[in-house]
Amino acid sequence: MKILIADDESVSRRMLQALLVKWGYEVVSAEDGDGALANLKSADAPRMALLDWMMPGQNGVDVCRALRKLRPEPYTYILLLTAKDAKESVVEGLESGADDYLTKPFNPQELKARIRVGLRLLELEDNLVQAREAMRFKATHDTLTGVWNRGAILETLEREVWRSRREGTTLGVLIADLDHFKSVNDTYGHLAGDAVLREVTKRMQNDVRPYDAVGRYGGEEFLILLP
Ligand SMILES: [Mg+2]
Repeated sequence: MKILIADDESVSRRMLQALLVKWGYEVVSAEDGDGALANLKSADAPRMALLDWMMPGQNGVDVCRALRKLRPEPYTYILLLTAKDAKESVVEGLESGADDYLTKPFNPQELKARIRVGLRLLELEDNLVQAREAMRFKATHDTLTGVWNRGAILETLEREVWRSRREGTTLGVLIADLDHFKSVNDTYGHLAGDAVLREVTKRMQNDVRPYDAVGRYGGEEFLILLP
């Protein structure tokens, strides 16, 4: 697990870094808000950040706001480190999108425990995203063959019709049906029929272009869109 530390004071930065490394985390550090944000925006960004509130340029709260606006996913857990402890500033910090805050000087054991809370939240977040993506796939794909299901292919058809109208182009629409499919089922059984459907869709998908769409319209009927 990689954690970003941003603090303009090199002593506290190094102290934090030493603690985190001792606890087994990989650390990247920044000495101001701009550096922190650049790091959190990068492709391989840390999922957790400990941001000092008071920094020159963009402060911790600015970084928080900017990051939340820019990239809601994957979620970054942000813990603000602050010398301020007035209640108003705590509210401001949390409203900027920070998940938690710790007042300096902090107790290392408390920091350790709060980092664990953050990791737990990130794990829950990842599980939720995975579940959502799996649901989205199920909702739009045919379980047996893996091509678009009827609802999804009809939606795509509508969208492609509008697109071709707007662009004044043509759209190829094929309804393909497997002849005598019933006899496959009757002779070899439904499992064999399923295997035939899977093989047929695999071949269809191999033969269309990346921007074409193949969907299962009904039992052995397929709708193929060729923009
Ligand atoms: Mg500072």
